[in-house]
Amino acid sequence: MPELPEVETTRRGILPHVAGARVERVVVRESRLRWPVPDRLGEVLAGQCIRTVDRRAKYLLFRTDAGSLLLHLGMSGSLQVVPPPVPPPQRHDHVDLLLESGACLRYTDPRRFGSLHWLPLDAPPHPLLAHLGPEPLDAAFNGELLFRRSRGRRGTVKGFVMDGRIVVGVGNIYASEALFLAGINPVRAAGRISLPRYRRLALAIRQVLESAIAAGGTTLRDFVGVGGQPGYFRQQLRVYGRATEPCPTCNTAIRQRVIAQRASYYCPACQR
Ligand SMILES: [Zn+2]
Repeated sequence: MPELPEVETTRRGILPHVAGARVERVVVRESRLRWPVPDRLGEVLAGQCIRTVDRRAKYLLFRTDAGSLLLHLGMSGSLQVVPPPVPPPQRHDHVDLLLESGACLRYTDPRRFGSLHWLPLDAPPHPLLAHLGPEPLDAAFNGELLFRRSRGRRGTVKGFVMDGRIVVGVGNIYASEALFLAGINPVRAAGRISLPRYRRLALAIRQVLESAIAAGGTTLRDFVGVGGQPGYFRQQLRVYGRATEPCPTCNTAIRQRVIAQRASYYCPACQR
């Protein structure tokens, strides 16, 4: 499933090819995604110039003068810039944005959990974006924020940092890895963790996501053409998926434990 680093890598990969490009035509071959693709998407997008592509949490926003195309990759979605001559669509290529240059921005999604929405310029904030917490890579995200918002919370710190209203984009893998780097046991109550430890955790979250983006950036070199592979940060994981393997710091066996229905991995010696 694409997480924040994969979405950010996608954004960086396609941006040079679509920024400043005019959309000539939109082809929707399958509108039954997680939510129906708006009928008038082709009408509103045709002729518009894509000014830039932003990211908010795991959403991509294609900005035009008329509004923004809001795109979520869901569980299995991917975007690719296909240079001309554009090959015929394959089975899961559901939406094409044909650009004036002859290239095509192609949305592929075997499981169809992704979504496309149109946000007119003057519309109120979209409900999908309205309650999102801060971006983990923004300066506004820090240990003070985590400390303040965690007071009185009895739930686990892992559940707390994975709550998108607190901070967006910290998925299960990244939460496990960041808690390891910060030396915090994932089951500890969020409300009982000190400010210095939350400062370390905020830095660890940033570090883990930035390394994953960098790794995605290396494996996801080519967004043009076919055969682009999703980026994998897997080789760099310190605890996630490594139950019974030795901790990279102290050699104690990594433990796995289910917290809030999600597999968590941690070192019982280093994480307190
Ligand atoms: Zn350890």
